[in-house]
Amino acid sequence: MARIVSGDSGTREVVAALRSGQVVGLPTETVYGLAADIRNDAALLKIFTVKRRPVTHPLIIHIARPEELEDIALEISPVCHALVDICWPGPLTVIIRAAPHVSRLCTGGRDTVAVRLPAHSSAQNVIRQLGSPVAAPSANRFGDVSPTTALHVVDDLGDDINLVLDGGSCEVGIESTIVDCTTAKPEILRHGAITPEAIEQIISTCDAALATRVSGTSRAPGMLDRHYAPKTQLVLHEREAKVPQDGAPVLHCDGDLVEVARTLYDQLRGLDARNISLAHVVMPPSGGLGFAIRDRLIKAATGL
Ligand code: AMP
Ligand code: MG
Repeated sequence: MARIVSGDSGTREVVAALRSGQVVGLPTETVYGLAADIRNDAALLKIFTVKRRPVTHPLIIHIARPEELEDIALEISPVCHALVDICWPGPLTVIIRAAPHVSRLCTGGRDTVAVRLPAHSSAQNVIRQLGSPVAAPSANRFGDVSPTTALHVVDDLGDDINLVLDGGSCEVGIESTIVDCTTAKPEILRHGAITPEAIEQIISTCDAALATRVSGTSRAPGMLDRHYAPKTQLVLHEREAKVPQDGAPVLHCDGDLVEVARTLYDQLRGLDARNISLAHVVMPPSGGLGFAIRDRLIKAATGL
């Protein structure tokens, strides 16, 4: 069973485990990650085994200093520079052309790679002490609800990993915004706490505009219709007045959206823990952080 460790001694244990090729639970401000040293393919492969995730789904590389982006990238566009200058450390992932030495396990066999500099000091300390970036998808089984506490990680993966570093509850609570910076017009591949409005504003300083989203398959592999999903069936409603009075629990996701995002996955996990078969959800409005929360709820409500 995985042990939860904390503080300086916990950090040292986690770094030693990463150095010996293990995968570990790592706190970030978005969700808890399942981390492996990007220099070690055997360790990277364990991420896929533990998560039961197809190896074609690329991993996000987490760095601790902005300069490390240069080691991973073949080229960095002015738009990408502008985005990371303003948003890092923070919940923004950029897709860039990958340097040839980046493991194919991180890129999913593509010539591009996803990179982020997390704001959580524990994640930064681990990466600095290891002396290498780590790859870290969410520390849950493929398709399930992401973890936002160390206990969530133990609940999901406790049998398959040895260590989880406790960094408290994740402040953002949902996965990073992903922006593809490899195309003439950058595109948001996944919504997150860095809003489309904020991204438009930043890239406008480089005379760039976001690509208009064409419907159809996303260019981000692994963006499945069903994801972040509890066992409880969610029924989504645009307005409180539409919710039937049938005794089923109601999640109000239309209040303070920062708070809604922060607690969303814990609430979804709570439904499963109570064996609730059906719950109603009052949706947040589109716009700002509402885009990201709506995206998670729509995928969480999609049937198998
Ligand atoms: P996560 O599961 O949070 O680690 O997010 C990983 C997701 O980032 C993948 O499933 C892709 O959707 C996206 N991603 C990562 N690398 C790339 C890439 N090189 N090109 C496009 N999307 C990527
Ligand atoms: Mg995930």
